[in-house]
Amino acid sequence: MKDKQFLMIPGPTPVPETALLAMAKHPMGHRSSEFSAVLAEVFADLKWLFQTQEDVFILTSSGTGAMEAAIYNLVNQGDKVLSLVIGNFGERWAKIAKMRGADVEIIAADWGKAIEPAVLKARLDQDVNKEIKFVTLTHNETSTGVTNDLKTLNDIIQEHGAISVVDGVTSVGAIQLKMDEWGIDVVVSGSQKGFMIPPGLAFLACSKKAWKAYENCKNPSFYFNFGAYKKSAAQSTTPYTPNVSLIMALRETLKMMKAEGLENIFNRHAKLAAGLRAGVRSMGLKLFVEDDSIASNAITAILPPDGVTVPDIRKTLTKDFDIVVANGQNQLQDKIFRMGHLGFVSERDLITAVGSLEMALAKLGYKSPKGEATTAAIKALI
Ligand SMILES: *Cc1c(COP(=O)(O)O)cnc(C)c1O
Repeated sequence: MKDKQFLMIPGPTPVPETALLAMAKHPMGHRSSEFSAVLAEVFADLKWLFQTQEDVFILTSSGTGAMEAAIYNLVNQGDKVLSLVIGNFGERWAKIAKMRGADVEIIAADWGKAIEPAVLKARLDQDVNKEIKFVTLTHNETSTGVTNDLKTLNDIIQEHGAISVVDGVTSVGAIQLKMDEWGIDVVVSGSQKGFMIPPGLAFLACSKKAWKAYENCKNPSFYFNFGAYKKSAAQSTTPYTPNVSLIMALRETLKMMKAEGLENIFNRHAKLAAGLRAGVRSMGLKLFVEDDSIASNAITAILPPDGVTVPDIRKTLTKDFDIVVANGQNQLQDKIFRMGHLGFVSERDLITAVGSLEMALAKLGYKSPKGEATTAAIKALI
């Protein structure tokens, strides 16, 4: 149905009307005092969201731009980088660092698993000469629906002394991440995930310890230069023309998030994820991540039942229910489908999605106990 489409992919995510309307206005001049006032407010609210006293830079790019910015402003050629890989996005850190000319070592877990803290600790304990300068990791791995135990992993990294470089693209605004309290060095994120606005902005915050690495970086990036962003942030501006319209939308969604409160936001995501998992299990379907203690609160990966294909499920959900879900990535393509439930998602949306999935499967010939999935989801939500 026209205008009914609901995105349940892990980004872009649905956008509230207040944010859409804010984008519909003529763009302000980016050097005007009027826009600087907007930026001052947005910068302050981003610090609240990232739970940091450090500046949060706003980059005009997708999330990967902030990942590249982090590596190119910190890492010198030949530096040793340890990349913790549990899926597609963890691999991306390693690829960027390799392209930078770093000496990259990978600790990988099977897709669907989290990094074992003991494995990281054993490797870093071995590094008595402190050759490893950086550790890259993914907080919430969107390709598999696994959330790493970031606090514990970061404690181990800090004890060793390396700089932690964290992909928080699908965790900031959805899953607890206390940048300063946990002592994380670099956090990057992207606008089309928990921020409830369209794609096009990326965010980056870095600790004082990481800042020293930037000062020792021989060939930092030009467009994404940390120094330029920091200097501009102090004057409530950006070094180059930012995406003014998206920042107007962001001001609105940050206000919404502040009104809801961080704990409530994280609890809402946890509840929605639990509701979806309960609904899916009651249909007799298997979750890609069976261990709830590492299952993501932002995205859930689901295996199709025997006899029904992932493309058919996705097609039916889109065509008959106006719900868009994502396919698996890389080796998981057509093996799993992924439902995003981060950002502007409510209990109503979740119940609708569970009911729609159950009905879509019934249309595709799967005999599940009809109606039970929504009941199971509702029970988990209440
Ligand atoms: C979406 C996403 C990114 C960034 O992807 P872009 O397409 O560049 O915005 C990075 N990491 C994770 C975990 C993501 O989900």
